[in-house]
This record gives sequence, structure tokens and C-alpha cells, in this order.
Amino acid sequence: MLIDLKKLWQKGKEEESFYFEYNPETELIDIPSAEIVLPIKVVGKVTLTGRHSAFIEGEISFKVKGECTRCLTETEKDFAIEFSEGVSDDGEDAYPLKNDTVDLSKIVDDKIIISMPVTLLCKEDCKGLCPDCGGNLNENGCKCK
Ligand SMILES: [Zn+2]
Ligand SMILES: [Zn+2]
Repeated sequence: MLIDLKKLWQKGKEEESFYFEYNPETELIDIPSAEIVLPIKVVGKVTLTGRHSAFIEGEISFKVKGECTRCLTETEKDFAIEFSEGVSDDGEDAYPLKNDTVDLSKIVDDKIIISMPVTLLCKEDCKGLCPDCGGNLNENGCKCK
């Protein structure tokens, strides 16, 4: 996912929209028995703020599929993470540019890693499994009580 700021300059444009489908090289979530359904979709807009700097904003969206961390039922959940970041070739608070090109993968990887929960729940108030009989407490399956 590379965005070349030189091309924007050459076209005389100040901003441009982008859309990427992204397959990260590394595992970005740390939820047991769950994974991101690929590809991750990244949509957004890049705005030039100088000859070698820009502002990037957008939204990362994807689905996570796997077992509910509490009750182990197969489940799916949609996630959307909004982001806005500066990029420049000399900024300390900004993501770096290489030959006026931004590697959006780095930004997206970071955003997902810091935003994601460590659990996947079939519903927010999932009651989980009974520690005694293993019955699913969301259903009427537990015989202990
Ligand atoms: Zn559950
Ligand atoms: Zn029970």
C-alpha cells in the first residue's frame, strides 16, 4: 500500500482518495482461536500539506472470525478503525516518507495493533461457560443451578 506524493504534485492535485485491499504479512490481533478475515479494506484520503509532507485520514475495516473467548461459540464481528496521521520526511511526530512515498501498511498495522481488544465476544454480555459442567450459560444448558 504505497502512496506516492510526487504523483500528486505532478498531477497538480492537492488531495486524492485511495482504496486498498490489504493482506498483512504478520498476525495483527492477539485473540485466541480468532483471526482477521482477509483482505482488510482501507479507504481514505491523502492531502498534501507541503512539498514533502501530507495528512492521511481514513478508515480500516475488517471482520474477525473465530471462537467467542468466553463461550467458544463460533462468531464473527465487524471492526472499523478510523485514523488520521501526518507523514513527512523530517517530522518527529509523523510517519516517515521514503522518496516522497508513504507506506500505508505501517500505519494500518499500528492502528490495528493498538485498537484491538484481546477478546472476541459473541455478544457484549456473553455469560460464558459454567466452570463446573462446561454448559453454555447463554442457553439453558447448565444443570448445576
Ligand atoms: Zn460467547
Ligand atoms: Zn453448570
